[in-house]
Amino acid sequence: MHVFVPKEMGQETRAALDPQGVKKLKVLGLEVSIEAGLGAKSDFPDAAYEAMGAVVCSSRAEALRAANVVLRINKPSHEDIALMQPGTWQLSFLDPFNEKELLQALAAAKISAVSLEMIPRTTLAQKMDVLSSQANLAGYYAVLRSATELNKVLPMMMTPAGTLQPARYFIVGVGVAGLQAIATAKRLGARVEAFDTRSVVEEQVKSLGARFVKIDLGDTGQTAQGYAQQLTPEQIQKQRDAMAKVCSQSDVVITTAKVFGRKAPTLITRAMLDVMQTGSIVIDLAVESGGNVEGSRLNEVVTLPNGVRILGIGNAEGNLPNHATQMFSSNLTNFLEHFWSKETKQVNLSPSDDFLKQCLITHNGNVVHEKFH
Ligand code: NAD
Repeated sequence: MHVFVPKEMGQETRAALDPQGVKKLKVLGLEVSIEAGLGAKSDFPDAAYEAMGAVVCSSRAEALRAANVVLRINKPSHEDIALMQPGTWQLSFLDPFNEKELLQALAAAKISAVSLEMIPRTTLAQKMDVLSSQANLAGYYAVLRSATELNKVLPMMMTPAGTLQPARYFIVGVGVAGLQAIATAKRLGARVEAFDTRSVVEEQVKSLGARFVKIDLGDTGQTAQGYAQQLTPEQIQKQRDAMAKVCSQSDVVITTAKVFGRKAPTLITRAMLDVMQTGSIVIDLAVESGGNVEGSRLNEVVTLPNGVRILGIGNAEGNLPNHATQMFSSNLTNFLEHFWSKETKQVNLSPSDDFLKQCLITHNGNVVHEKFH
């Protein structure tokens, strides 16, 4: 089995495999090749991959034609799909809820495409969960970025010149990114409040030493996979009303509230931004899936007339490309290792496997996942 890892296109700084990942795949008996320059933006030189046994290819087209498994972060281009042989496995984010045409193209090319977003959230799959490993870094990055943007210090400082009060943080959405944001802001000495519609996270927020903002929205619940349900318009309005006061007292608001497979809800409205204090920072980590903050723009800083700044940060983890690559690579190699058989000494990606069925989207000429027929 021959694994190929192409360079990511566009602004992407991360790579799908790091040199340690090559080593791990070689132990499983796989041949590994990478496109030259794969880790250039994440500080993994070609020579480091080579030292672990990878072949460095200068022709992406040739390597794509020869591969049985292609690993990447972002969805493949139509040009790349045309180069892959029927029967090739391809693992990447696919954004399957919004990319119907891409799924059809993958099916038509007889590619077996695994959507990393669809990896189930079970204990077994935790080590393969790229959404979690990347969100964790995103939450960390958001706090550090806010700390450098803010015109204040984060911890309380008692000095002969007087006492500085700790900065006040409000984290909206306490999933993986939100929890890491709370932990990081607390470590830096900020005073942290947080809210999530899933009331089960209240204990987690408290255990990190932050305050959980209680808003009674009635029935909210969560899916079997642990994701938030979509709220009704009335519930969203109630949430906005209750959050307005907390926002007005916060130096930094970080929003991470996503709804799996759907557009993110707008939770911070212009009216709420207008009553925030001059110099406050709002970071929207959901900006790529629609945004939680009214007026946030992808990878731009929007300064409002009252001096509040909104940072819409897409791919926040991409600002820490070395560690993000390390985590991503580890998730993917764990995935392949999961299907390695001791008996045959081979990776056997069987489409009938119960776990694989949940994230395999196209196979043998068809869109096989029931959610995307
Ligand atoms: P996510 O990225 O889909 O959403 C981020 C957070 O936003 C979630 O906590 C969600 O509840 C919250 N949110 C959605 N709408 C909101 C609203 N209107 N207001 C406030 N908050 C809102 O979620 P995620 O970080 O990927 O993870 C969600 C949950 O899944 C977490 O509890 C996590 O611990 C759990 N999880 C479990 C596993 C596992 O068991 N293997 C793996 C990963 C995550």
